[in-house]
Formats: sequence, structure tokens, C-alpha cells
Amino acid sequence: MLQIADVRKRDFGTPCMTESSARRLLIVDDDPGVRRALKRLLRKEGYEIHSASDTQSAERVLERDTIDVILCDQDMPGRKGIEFLKDAAKKYPHQGRLLISGRFQSDEVATALDAGDIHKFMMKPWDEAILKADIRASFRRIVSEYANAANQEVPPNSATNGRVSVDDTAAWTEFDENRRMSRELHTAAGDGSLALQYQPQVGLEDNAILGFEALLRWNASTGPVSPERFIALAERGGAMGKLTHWVVGEVCHRAKQWLPLWNDAKIGLNISPIDLRDDALVNHVETTLAEHGLRPGSIVVEVTESQALCRDTQTLTRLGRLADLGVGLAIDDFGAGATSLSYIADLPFTTLKLDRSLTQQLEDDKGATVVSKIVEMARDLDMQTIIEGIETEQQAQIARSLGANVAQGYFFSKPQTRNRVSEWIAAGRGGKL
Ligand code: C2E
Ligand code: MG
Ligand code: MG
Repeated sequence: MLQIADVRKRDFGTPCMTESSARRLLIVDDDPGVRRALKRLLRKEGYEIHSASDTQSAERVLERDTIDVILCDQDMPGRKGIEFLKDAAKKYPHQGRLLISGRFQSDEVATALDAGDIHKFMMKPWDEAILKADIRASFRRIVSEYANAANQEVPPNSATNGRVSVDDTAAWTEFDENRRMSRELHTAAGDGSLALQYQPQVGLEDNAILGFEALLRWNASTGPVSPERFIALAERGGAMGKLTHWVVGEVCHRAKQWLPLWNDAKIGLNISPIDLRDDALVNHVETTLAEHGLRPGSIVVEVTESQALCRDTQTLTRLGRLADLGVGLAIDDFGAGATSLSYIADLPFTTLKLDRSLTQQLEDDKGATVVSKIVEMARDLDMQTIIEGIETEQQAQIARSLGANVAQGYFFSKPQTRNRVSEWIAAGRGGKL
């Protein structure tokens, strides 16, 4: 297995790139002559080139390999290049996508460029120097994005002062490491490297355990990776759906085992806004609940609110479908910055989880006033409030005095392994901490 140290030592300037460091380009064109010409031209740039003659085989390449940049012909029999790229943009938002055509294109291409579904439109016959420069720019763009993923800053000693050049070894090394992890994440659900930990949610009146939040852990081949980092990489690399699929299955399995011992207890699970881009998650939740014969209210889906989430009508429809199933819906990290009060009453949320940054201000009078108003607003909207990140007894007392009734935080318990929770049950601690 490749170790980080080996990756760092490698010379990325050499034309002979190894599996991990190669920049992967996918060329999609139905004309074999064009594919050959493009390959000949671009191979000299040091890319690992994959090719496909139609969009169906191109989709298979995307599922199999971590492709960085797609160069796609518009005019192919069957599906148009732009349709394929728009779909790719949904599934793999952080790839570079370039469209090429022998004909001038108007409105649809302009709209796709505006939406960021494609990054560049080019005409055939191409100018070799411009085409090469555009593709290089596309690779640079995704390296910068990966470098920024999960606070991975471009190294300060970068000669380009934050802007990544093709020769910026440190930035490319980060990129390769992040991309290697993104790739590994695609198989994580099947290789035993994922686990959930469960953090109790307790009643502030009596410390009764009312539920848990399931928190995902990943032990990569190079060691454990923080959730902030691997979730961001899964979102960028297209693996998020697979991780969430696994989480839903695992949570329902545990809920079936544990919840009969805890009347009305709930298990919360986190989803990414990306999971709401198609119907797969909602369908999977529906079938998994049915397979396990679970009461839908025994799981709560937590989603961090964002402007994008609230504006997209399809996403709202899917949240509505989850609510119709009877599943609880929590708005996570409320107050962390992205919250928009104008939408909150319209969304089908049942629970509001107050962000830890607000909990930390509880001891301050002004902070306490803000929290008390949020608790009051949630109550008026028929939502339960969970105060996250309670670390001290004093914070717990203040939260209680402000009318909050459920809390979660290290003061009560850190996230626990599955075995630990099972031991609690065996020891008859099903009710209270
Ligand atoms: P979150 O959903 O807001 O989860 C709460 C985070 O706060 C967890 O961090 C938890 O360990 C931490 N925490 C709880 N109590 C305290 C406390 O008293 N003090 C402090 N300092 N921290 C506390 P964790 O497990 O590292 O997860 C971080 C984030 O990663 C989660 O924030 C969530 O956004 C994301 N995440 C975790 N699991 C999943 C998952 O299965 N799917 C998705 N999409 N995201 C996940
Ligand atoms: Mg959460
Ligand atoms: Mg949270």
C-alpha cells in the first residue's frame, strides 16, 4: 500500500507518472480520428488519458476511475455532450468539464457555462496551443479546489503565492493525497474501514437518554481521517452517496437492535446536501425502514442548512418526502452562519440543533438572550431544540433555565463506539446516563 511519505518523495515533474500522481483526463468523442488526434496532442502534456466513444461508456469510466478533467464532444449520436456533462456536474461537482463542438452553440451552452456545469466551450478545429492551455487551466482549477478542501491550504511557500501552477510540487502533492483518499472512499463502505460512533442526546431535566447522533468515522489505509476532511473529500469526489447509503443501513440495523429497549428513543444521522440531489437517499430510507420494520420516527435525518439547500425546489420536495415518511428532520448547526430565517418556517423540520459556537456564548448575557430567543422561536414553530456542544455543568444549567430540554455534548458523553452502547444496554443503563 502506498504511504504518504512515498507520495511526498516522488518527483512529479517526471513524465513517467505513477498510478496515484497521474492527472486523469477523459476524452469523449464518437469520431475515432478526433480521439486519436487529441490523445496524440495531450499525451505529451503528461496526462493519463482515458477515452470513450459515447456517453454510456464515458459514464462507466467515471464510475470506475477518478477522472479529473473531461473533454467532451457536443455532437454525438444519441445523447448530446452537454447533457452528459450536466449530469456529471451533479455527481462529480469538482471535476473540470470542457465542451468542444464543430458548430457554434448558443443559449444552452451559455446557460451551462453560467451554471458552472461546463467550464469552457471550445470550437473544432482547435488551436493546439489554446486547447492545451485551457486544459492545463482546468487541472489547475481543480487542484486549487482540492487544496482548499477541508482547510487544506495551498502551502505558503508556494512560489505562486496561493495560485497553483502546473509545476507547484507541494500543491500537486496535496492534490494527489486528497485524490487518493477520495478514490479510497469509493470502496470504504465495503472494506470495513467505516464505523459509526454514537453520542447520547439527553433530557436536561433528568439526564435521561432520549436518543443518539450517529457520527461517521473513517480509518483510511494511512490511518484515521477527521470527518471534516473526509466528508469534504467524499462530496468532491462523488463518494458521498455511497457513504450515506452505508450509514442509513447501519443506523437502521442498530435502531432495530437498541430502540425497543429505549421507548421513543431516536437515532440521528447526518446527510450532505449532495444526498438530496436525486431520489436515491429518500428511496433508500423508505425501503430500509420497511425492511427492518422500523417506526419512521425512530430516525432523524440531520442536514446543515444552506442557501443552496433552501433555494432548490427539487431538494425541498425531497425533504418533504422524508417528512411525509414520518422521519424526523433536524436542521443542524443552526446559527453557524449559513442560516436563513426567512425559510425556516416553510421547511418541514422537526428539530433545530443549536450550533456549538452559540452554546459557547451561553455564559455571556447577550449570548444567553440569543439562545433563549432561538429556543422560543423553535417552540413557536413546533420544533424541538437540541443544544449541541455542552461542555460544562454551568452551560447545562443555563440551557435548562432558558427552557431548552434536550442537549448533547462532552459534558454528558463523548461519542461512543457501538460496543460501548451495547454494553450500556446490557448493564441496564438504557434509560439514564
Ligand atoms: P455535527 O453533525 O454537527 O456533529 C457534532 C460534532 O460535534 C461531532 O464532531 C461531535 O463529536 C462534536 N461534539 C459533540 N459534542 C461536543 C462538545 O461538547 N465539544 C466539542 N468540541 N465537540 C463536540 P465529529 O464527529 O467530528 O463530526 C463533525 C461533523 O462531520 C459533523 O458535525 C457532521 O457535519 C459531519 N459528519 C459526521 N458524520 C457524518 C455522516 O455520517 N455524514 C455526513 N454527511 N456528515 C457527517
Ligand atoms: Mg449532526
Ligand atoms: Mg451540529
